[in-house]
Amino acid sequence: MRRPIIAGNWKMNKTPSEAVELVKALIPLVKDAEAEVVVCPPYISIAAVAELIKDTNIELGAQNVYFEKSGAYTGEVSIDMLKEAGVRYIIIGHSERRQYFNETDENVNKKAKAILAAGLRPIICIGETLDQREKGITNDFVSMQTKLALNGIEEAELENVVIAYEPIWAIGTGKTATALEANETISAVRNAVREIYGEEGADKIRIQYGGSMNPKNASELMAQSEIDGGLIGGASLKGEDFSKVVKF
Ligand code: PEP
Repeated sequence: MRRPIIAGNWKMNKTPSEAVELVKALIPLVKDAEAEVVVCPPYISIAAVAELIKDTNIELGAQNVYFEKSGAYTGEVSIDMLKEAGVRYIIIGHSERRQYFNETDENVNKKAKAILAAGLRPIICIGETLDQREKGITNDFVSMQTKLALNGIEEAELENVVIAYEPIWAIGTGKTATALEANETISAVRNAVREIYGEEGADKIRIQYGGSMNPKNASELMAQSEIDGGLIGGASLKGEDFSKVVKF
């Protein structure tokens, strides 16, 4: 049985004081949640959020990381820094990072391996463009992204890996893949995992859907057999909305 995981990606939103306000509102709203709950604030608010959630059921995530241990990488943040700050999950390969900051499949793979080696958990984002969907190559494309991201990762580590399938055309647009479309593509992603690791590996890995998931569509998406959770952007910025998604 895979435990559902709902993660809020705040992106470049919320000042530190706003982050504190949001988490304070969220704590009582999600305290009875059955799903695993993760919030991913901007780096600058991580310490403050960590302090607030330390005795709660909310886990801390980061939105990015660099894979090198330390050194002359101005502006970057290391895995050890995030770990010491209380981070457990790290989003990597988000389509916005692939599009605006040249994140490559090779870097995503290096980050995934380094995160796992440090005992933390990557949330690996994959997903097709509208053009790719219209050309009918979605399943091939996301399967390839999956295999490249997981290259060199052991089967035993898969229980610590989360994949977020996020069709790029559905992110922040208000357009959601239908529950059936999302389930079908996630099934293709799980098949790609099965091809490399066999049935046990495919059973272990958790695969989220992301892309305009909100309180209205969460229950239908989460009812699908292959969908193990959600990566939530816009709807994670209000405690009330996010808690409704968490409780789908
Ligand atoms: C995301 O940023 O991962 C995302 C899914 O955003 P939104 O929910 O706003 O589409």
